[in-house]
Amino acid sequence: MNSENKIVTRFAPSPTGFLHIGGARSALFNYFFTKQKGGKIILRIEDTDAERNKDEYTQAIIDGFDWLGLKFDDTKKQSDNFPTHKKYLEKLITDGHAYVSKEEVKEEGQRAEVIRFKNPNKKITFTDMIRGEVSVDTTDLGDFVIAKSFEEPIFHLSNVIDDITMGVTHVIRGEEHLANTPRQILIWEAIGERERPIYAHIPLILSTEREKLSKRKHGELVSVAYYQNNGYLKEAFINFLAFLGWNPGGEEEIYSLEDLINKFDITKVQKGGAVFNVDKLNWFNKEYIKKQTEKEQLEYIKKYLPNIEKYNDQLLEKLRPVLIERINFYGELKKMQEDGDLDCYTHAPVFDNKNEEASIEKIIWKKSNKENTLENLKEIKIILSLNKDISFEEIWDKIYKLAEEKGKGDILWPLRYSLSGKEKSPDPKTLLYILGVKESEERIETALKELSK
Ligand code: GLU
Repeated sequence: MNSENKIVTRFAPSPTGFLHIGGARSALFNYFFTKQKGGKIILRIEDTDAERNKDEYTQAIIDGFDWLGLKFDDTKKQSDNFPTHKKYLEKLITDGHAYVSKEEVKEEGQRAEVIRFKNPNKKITFTDMIRGEVSVDTTDLGDFVIAKSFEEPIFHLSNVIDDITMGVTHVIRGEEHLANTPRQILIWEAIGERERPIYAHIPLILSTEREKLSKRKHGELVSVAYYQNNGYLKEAFINFLAFLGWNPGGEEEIYSLEDLINKFDITKVQKGGAVFNVDKLNWFNKEYIKKQTEKEQLEYIKKYLPNIEKYNDQLLEKLRPVLIERINFYGELKKMQEDGDLDCYTHAPVFDNKNEEASIEKIIWKKSNKENTLENLKEIKIILSLNKDISFEEIWDKIYKLAEEKGKGDILWPLRYSLSGKEKSPDPKTLLYILGVKESEERIETALKELSK
């Protein structure tokens, strides 16, 4: 522990790619753990690999956390700590824990200098908060490289020095780092300035085929920005990520960030890989959409529905529940519109007999004929024009009664087709309600004219 006896953690991404879901989950576990215990959490951008780093990735990581609403107590750049790395490297050499070694560079047949750590070849044992006791004989690791030169410390060294100088007490990170821990403990002990941190290595995230999730194989699905851009709700995303490898037990699955902070128990994180199932995320997201107020839902619809200028406020208000019922995340609105599923709300159908798809002939129910269809449409139109002062439900009752008398297909099919111009469309009650009586009368009138030609 540090002098204040306060927990200090860090999330330490290398900005060599966009924030991915594995990183976000590591950050969350650090966050829950730290906030529950009133500690301090640092975002440390490990930007020392000049060849692979990009500023846009650093920005994307920061933006990802802004979206999720995670607030770090401090943000540091590893490169700012460079003079300190150098100082410690020199001290390790002075104290006999490291040495400069001249080595053959394979391809060029030249000799170059690297700095190696003098391995004391001992057994390292540490207690991982998730995995329990881990013991490793470090002899096999040999004298490993800790810097390419005095100016270029490599990952193990800079990572440990930063943890030491930033007062880190708990290192919570992905399982892929488990193999690095013995080397890092050796360096930590050689520096001998502080007690070592407590480690926790959290399980890998696997695809539903149980492969390690990777950008190469799984594309944009691994990137946090994908979920942000596709109109997922951050609360749902956090809830879902938190459950990749941990859950508080019991039936309840919906937990706010605050609940997660209160309930999180790192010792209950599973050791085996955690399966990432996007269907489950969609389920969470839908649950959170249902919890939004109507106003919030409308705001999201306005943000994610393309060509929003075609929809007036009154139409959007009526359309809201219909859209909400059909989506798991707001990004799906784009596809609905591209597929033409919403056309019937913004344009009256154009019956074009040259065009197979919108042929007026299709308005005739398969077991019916032209005469019946014309008669039935006229009757529907009379119901609409004679009942201007009654509620929508009452109008619908009248239409439904007519359908029961004359046959449901014979009434409801031509009604639906005249309103939508499509064989597949929302049901006629929904269409009539959303379009309103006036617009519906006009559409039925058009269909009647076309059919009488
Ligand atoms: N920079 C390392 C990475 O991105 C993090 C190492 C650590 O958390 O200790 O994987």
